[in-house]
Amino acid sequence: MKKTLALLLALVAGSAAQAATPWQQITHPIAGSPQSIGSFSNGCIIGASALPLDAENYQVMRTDQRRYFGHPHLVRFIERMSQQVRSQGLGTVLVGDMGMAAGGRFSSGHASHQTGLDVDIFLQLPQTRWTSAQLRRPQAIDLVAVNGKGVIPSLWKPEIGTLIKTAAQDDEVTRIFVNPAIKQQLCLEAGPDRGWLNKVRPWFAHRAHMHVRLRCPADSLECLEQAAPPPGDGCGAELQSWFLPPPPGSKAPTKSTPPPPPPSCQALLDKHLL
Ligand SMILES: [Zn+2]
Repeated sequence: MKKTLALLLALVAGSAAQAATPWQQITHPIAGSPQSIGSFSNGCIIGASALPLDAENYQVMRTDQRRYFGHPHLVRFIERMSQQVRSQGLGTVLVGDMGMAAGGRFSSGHASHQTGLDVDIFLQLPQTRWTSAQLRRPQAIDLVAVNGKGVIPSLWKPEIGTLIKTAAQDDEVTRIFVNPAIKQQLCLEAGPDRGWLNKVRPWFAHRAHMHVRLRCPADSLECLEQAAPPPGDGCGAELQSWFLPPPPGSKAPTKSTPPPPPPSCQALLDKHLL
């Protein structure tokens, strides 16, 4: 019966903007040794861990959404990185969405975050821990000027740059997405030590948070790795292209129907939505 319901929900998902996906019905991790399967934007995870919600060095926002699951590598990365940030006296790390209990596609908000290897982190570091009310309704700080050409000087703080650098220097991290204006600010502030900038990629939105992506774990044999970013610090022509008007005749990307999940993920849905 449940499977019929899931199918019905999936059908409805095609017509309603924010309808549920079958992945949202799986509320607890699938038992098994941890395996990230598929690609960041079309995959799932077996053996996910929940990020501990009670921690000294970070706080988790919007826990009502239950998007605090990920591969154990992601949990350990968040613990390691926030410990490094706190030990430099920079403040408390604010953790946003990771993935759902079995990964998979969200109904809204993200195309990726599907394999338990992505996490959103706020670009603010409170010195005083947030109250539970603040964590329930987080106030994002938009760091980018309205014209998109730079950060807002009164809001930008050097510790935000250190937060991004600390994450980028982690061996497990392959990419960090931030707004082009934020990448530009990092390019301006970085001294001769610029290798880490290679992983920091300009992308749409991401004006108040960074999106951190980890590499496929070596023993996740069905995890599809993304090609490495082009060599160099990415501060030159590629970054500047984001500030140019789109070439005439180019259209905004249109929404397309998502592809079917990889066979192993579909099998997992079939088994757990019976
Ligand atoms: Zn994200």
